[in-house]
Amino acid sequence: MLNDDSRPLYFSFEPRQQVVEGSVVRIVAHDGSSEVPCWFVTKDANLTLCNEALFCLGLLPAMKMQRDLHIEGSLDAKLYDALRRLQDIYGIWEPTYRRTQLSGAARSLSAPSLGLGVGTFFTGGVDSYYTLIKHQSELTHIIYVHGIDVGLADKRLRAQVSAMLERVGNDFGVKVIELESNLRGYFEDFGLEWGRHAFGPALIAVAHLLAPDLRKIYVPSTFTYAELIPVGSHPLVDPLWSSSRLEVVHDGCEATRIMKVQKLATSQTAMETLRVCFNNVDSNYNCGKCEKCFRTMVNLKAAGALERCTTFPGTIDLRALRRMSVIEEYERAMMLQNLRALEGQPAERQLYDALNKILKRPVWQSRVNEEFWRRVRVWRRSVRRRLGLEKKYSQFELGGNDVQPPQ
Ligand SMILES: [Zn+2]
Repeated sequence: MLNDDSRPLYFSFEPRQQVVEGSVVRIVAHDGSSEVPCWFVTKDANLTLCNEALFCLGLLPAMKMQRDLHIEGSLDAKLYDALRRLQDIYGIWEPTYRRTQLSGAARSLSAPSLGLGVGTFFTGGVDSYYTLIKHQSELTHIIYVHGIDVGLADKRLRAQVSAMLERVGNDFGVKVIELESNLRGYFEDFGLEWGRHAFGPALIAVAHLLAPDLRKIYVPSTFTYAELIPVGSHPLVDPLWSSSRLEVVHDGCEATRIMKVQKLATSQTAMETLRVCFNNVDSNYNCGKCEKCFRTMVNLKAAGALERCTTFPGTIDLRALRRMSVIEEYERAMMLQNLRALEGQPAERQLYDALNKILKRPVWQSRVNEEFWRRVRVWRRSVRRRLGLEKKYSQFELGGNDVQPPQ
């Protein structure tokens, strides 16, 4: 972590030797006294050192740290010209961010990309599958970064994710690019919340490193046009990170999660590999107990596809569902989508009533409720462990800073 002062943040590559059939790239943000490294490793592609990636990794840390940003060399004109607009948006989203000056980089007119590839970021979740199926005829690559939603040290879950990606690659006829990175930990070291502002530019930095192979990258949306809130990846912001060589498209805001699930339920591969849970307790593929798992199971139920989806329990535990709390604005919006989808389904009356009850609960009561059940879970787990009935609870650190890249 850098100290508080006014020195500019300098960004540079520290290229390591190419590894067999792939690349290791290390980027360093420094202010002359201390540094924050960010690294990427892949065996599936040749990563290209480009200042467009440095810009995506540097702008938010510089604004957050109230420093100027220094990048040596040339920066694509399209991205260079987006500097003001990006800062207009982030500045109104987060008033503590300071408008930063860019120094060192010269505005350059780049030739259009020679790359033919069209990629999408893919985690195996609802948003990812929707974009994959919608643009199947155009897509050539799917990209997954280990260390963001699964800890790098979580070998068991990572192997399951890699197997899922391999199957999707084969079934959809797309090339899979898997990378390892401390990307999430890098942004969090600057005090930037991953979900709130960081994950859009972070992922798009990866796409710029892959730009010789790609001319377009889709970033699957989280929210619809009716529910837009400031968030890491956003239809207003993502396209501004495009360069003359790489078009960035924020995709899927026209569809609710129910509509997305209806689309992915047409794919047997999706029904056998869908993965939404970022809980990662005991390396479970989907825990079936967290807000996101419950929300997706209700999505699947409303779409008439829960029984066919083999990565979730086939039935919803209504008692456990009723205990759930929705506190965040986006959680309420998504639950409301589920409620509306169930309105015309008399057979799902009990499920409808359970969701209605959760939504009607005041937020203060939901917070008390959540804390109560959290303590119950901790107590139950400790009792089971003492009785030797539960294996050691395991959950690995997200972010990637717990693992060093190969030298
Ligand atoms: Zn879960």
